[in-house]
Amino acid sequence: MNIHEYQAKELLKSYGVSVPVGSVAYSDAQAEQAAEEIGGERWVVKAQIHAGGRGKAGGVKVVNSLEDVRKTADAMIGTRLVTHQTGPEGSVVQRVWIEQASDIRHEYYLGFVIDRGTQRITIIASSEGGMDIEDVAKTSPDKIVKEVIDPAIGLRDFQCRKVATAIGLKGKLMPQAVKLMKAIYRCMRDKDALQAEINPLALVNTGEGEKLMVLDAKFNFDDNGLYRQKQITELRDLAEEDPKEVEASGHGLNYIALDGNIGCIVNGAGLAMASLDAITLHGGRPANFLDVGGGASPEKVTNACRIVLQDPNVKCILVNIFAGINRCDWIAQGLIQACNSLQIQVPLIVRLAGTNVEEGRKILAESGLSFITAENLDAAAAKAVATVKG
Ligand code: GDP
Ligand code: MG
Repeated sequence: MNIHEYQAKELLKSYGVSVPVGSVAYSDAQAEQAAEEIGGERWVVKAQIHAGGRGKAGGVKVVNSLEDVRKTADAMIGTRLVTHQTGPEGSVVQRVWIEQASDIRHEYYLGFVIDRGTQRITIIASSEGGMDIEDVAKTSPDKIVKEVIDPAIGLRDFQCRKVATAIGLKGKLMPQAVKLMKAIYRCMRDKDALQAEINPLALVNTGEGEKLMVLDAKFNFDDNGLYRQKQITELRDLAEEDPKEVEASGHGLNYIALDGNIGCIVNGAGLAMASLDAITLHGGRPANFLDVGGGASPEKVTNACRIVLQDPNVKCILVNIFAGINRCDWIAQGLIQACNSLQIQVPLIVRLAGTNVEEGRKILAESGLSFITAENLDAAAAKAVATVKG
């Protein structure tokens, strides 16, 4: 689960991290009032969407008057912001974050991710932060440093100093950098975060000396930990998620939208991945990942069909079930129910194996409906691809 920049900043602030003074606003009037309360003469108006790349897309604006705060907020709220991370359809800005503008001297990159290889939280940092970090990674990977954290020991001061030194922080900034990194690490562990990205971590001239401040923060949390993270769960913004994915999770289905045209209904994440691979191998493109899980009732199968069909790109549906806990007869009944109640117009390719398979096949054969059946995954994938290619 992702959260907005301002929510991440408020979370980090509660861990003692320095962030600019700011306030969230849902309208232009609220934005102006927020800026007035914040005070000062320069403000930053920042579109709040769950995607990066806002700066380059016009979603971050520095302004010098209350009137411009209002005008900028008005122009942003309700519009679709398209960044290199949102896809061409963009994301509608529902709220903006107004903060005191910072006098930036330098921008650093500081990320905490889980490295799959070592299975450990790893710090990724660079002296060249800001909006071109992707280019830095491509053209000068030597400017990016990594530090792996041992979960049994936690993040040690010497590791923070090592990272800070490598990105050019020294003197009075060193203790600030150590405190900051340890706070982010503690926050990640406490809140079951999978990723925390600070870009930029800025060296700001405050008038009373230079200070490290978090100017942008992106957090991603482990969905499997949300049951014990009430504070984080409350930050969920359903407007930022694919409505099909939201509906699916309400029905206990694991659905992830993809950009192809072959809908997939499968049981088990492993088999679902194998099905996507098989489709791709035969030259097709899956429209989604969908795991109906174990013990899927006919109703659950019907819901799965409905959600898959909400995607207008879907030209056929591949149903691939290897029933252990599941029952092929229930799946078959669910498919017939779905065909009747949803008036499915696209071909259904069905491969059933496992518990009650004979009964399941019989139900399909006697239904009078035109299912395309297959004996195994490979044949099913080939038939699905042949169907969409006409
Ligand atoms: P992103 O493009 O979605 O990652 O949005 P960011 O929040 O990182 O903002 C993009 C850029 O806007 C930053 O790299 C900064 O250069 C600039 N920016 C953000 N906040 C401030 C600020 O308070 N003052 C100034 N002068 N620039 C800012
Ligand atoms: Mg950023």
